[in-house]
Amino acid sequence: MIRLSYGTAVKMGLRRGKMLAEPTTAYIMLGERCYSNCSFCAQARSRRKEGYLSRVLWLPYPKEVLRELKGFARVCFQTLDYPEVLEDLLSLIPLIPENIPISVSIVPLKKEEMQLLQDKIDTISFALDAANEELFDRVKGRGVGNRFTWEMVWKALKEALTIFPNVNTHLIVGLGESDEDLYRVMKKLRDMHISVALFSYTPLFGGDYPDVGRYRAVQVMRHLLYRGYDDFAVFENGKLVEIRAPKKEEEALERGLPFLTSGCPGCNRPFYNERPGGTIYNYPYLPNSGKIKTILEQLRSYLRKI
Ligand code: SF4
Repeated sequence: MIRLSYGTAVKMGLRRGKMLAEPTTAYIMLGERCYSNCSFCAQARSRRKEGYLSRVLWLPYPKEVLRELKGFARVCFQTLDYPEVLEDLLSLIPLIPENIPISVSIVPLKKEEMQLLQDKIDTISFALDAANEELFDRVKGRGVGNRFTWEMVWKALKEALTIFPNVNTHLIVGLGESDEDLYRVMKKLRDMHISVALFSYTPLFGGDYPDVGRYRAVQVMRHLLYRGYDDFAVFENGKLVEIRAPKKEEEALERGLPFLTSGCPGCNRPFYNERPGGTIYNYPYLPNSGKIKTILEQLRSYLRKI
């Protein structure tokens, strides 16, 4: 058995339901019980929310439905941490129609384990989630009884660059990091040719969403870094106060490009973090002009100058 995200199941016609935005990637969750305990996750072993990952409900289906995948730009396996995960992946990947590129988001693997996936997937993702080491230890390392360390994820990311065409990581905004932490870690990842998918912290068990103006500013930083710019950000005590956006990028800002879901090509993760009808952090489609006006106001409310 596998689990498909609600939107994936509806788009495949396996379930009747409404979608406010169609997923462009098919999202598949593997594993029924996670051995890890990350503080922000719906599947943390100490307080599971059955069938959920972030805000998304995942529905069980027999694995054969994977043969029916069509109309998706990508397939993404989002895997829980459990002993048979690689074995399961290796048995499921051959069911995916050949023309669809595959991403796998998984706990840090050893090089020999990565080699088993080589030539079968085009992108691997090892999530840092936290933007600095101390925070990592607190939310997904020793602090919550996990075996993961900051070095372990970086080592896996570096090794993956020698094995896979694309390497990705996930970063969560709102875990307690500074804006400058996010800038530094994204700059390092950009320099290493590792793509970043931004997520907003999703309060499943308490806490708050990050300030939306702050999230917009982080989206603009990511956008400018990956367009090859440096030194456009002014910080005061770790807080971003000014973005000196190059003239050439103003059009991209006004079209809303930095505010689209980031990550692997073809991944739009509709409503992964946000309630439909609530504030949208990652736009799964290009925002219209009214929404862009609001987005730019949110951005300006956080910064002294842009
Ligand atoms: S960015 Fe999207 S497709 Fe890539 S690993 Fe993350 S969720 Fe999957």
